[in-house]
Amino acid sequence: MPVDRVTLAEATETASQWITDGGSPRLGLAVNAGKAESMRRDATLRAVAARADLVFADGVGVVWASRILGDPLPERVPGVELCGALLERASERGWRPYLLGAHQVVLQQLASQLTERGIDLAGMHDGYWSTLSEQDLVAEISSTRPDVLFVALGSPRQEAFLLRWLDALDVPFAMGVGGSFDVLSGQKQRAPKLFRSSGLEWAWRLGREPRRLATRRALDLPLWAGRVTLEKISLYTYF
Ligand code: UDP
Repeated sequence: MPVDRVTLAEATETASQWITDGGSPRLGLAVNAGKAESMRRDATLRAVAARADLVFADGVGVVWASRILGDPLPERVPGVELCGALLERASERGWRPYLLGAHQVVLQQLASQLTERGIDLAGMHDGYWSTLSEQDLVAEISSTRPDVLFVALGSPRQEAFLLRWLDALDVPFAMGVGGSFDVLSGQKQRAPKLFRSSGLEWAWRLGREPRRLATRRALDLPLWAGRVTLEKISLYTYF
């Protein structure tokens, strides 16, 4: 899995440059241990990783693996922080973001906060549409000519959506942001600083949302840790 060796500041700068240039669509992809594991069985996710222009280590498991395997990434680049940093710049530089995904109530709360901060939203649409076709939704998004598109539909749905429609979307930069709108709107709390700095944000999330334990994704973390450890052992054996 390719991962760009970037800090949060560098990722923000790179995406900002693409947005400012306004060229053909660029794609950002957040990766964590869960997504890395999913990539082994999900060809669409692998195609997204191959198509992505910026792949950043959203999860601590990816940074940990890079260190264990002797090719360290500089730091974790949480997608929610990259999204927040780009929204900050949107207010400074007059970019018009489009928000796709999450519940309508979350979107409305976030939109009113962003408007108060002087951000001119290109548009927004919740992530629970049923009557609209994806094609019509894409046409609606494109017609607003956004500078940046954040897609919060959960993984891998958001990545599959972006892979399918990126070229039709006509937006300089797009990325999937998972549950970021819930956090940025204040509807959901992010892990306290102590959990974040000690690399245990995932444990805090599991504690808050135990239903995640019942999903296949809960297995991905230990699987990933095991695979990385095996990789390290075999490296020692052969070199
Ligand atoms: N979501 C959505 N439509 C759906 C399923 C999910 O808009 O059909 C939203 C959900 O409301 C939440 C985000 O997608 O805001 C997914 O958040 P989650 O924390 O599950 O993200 P992940 O762990 O997949 O990155």
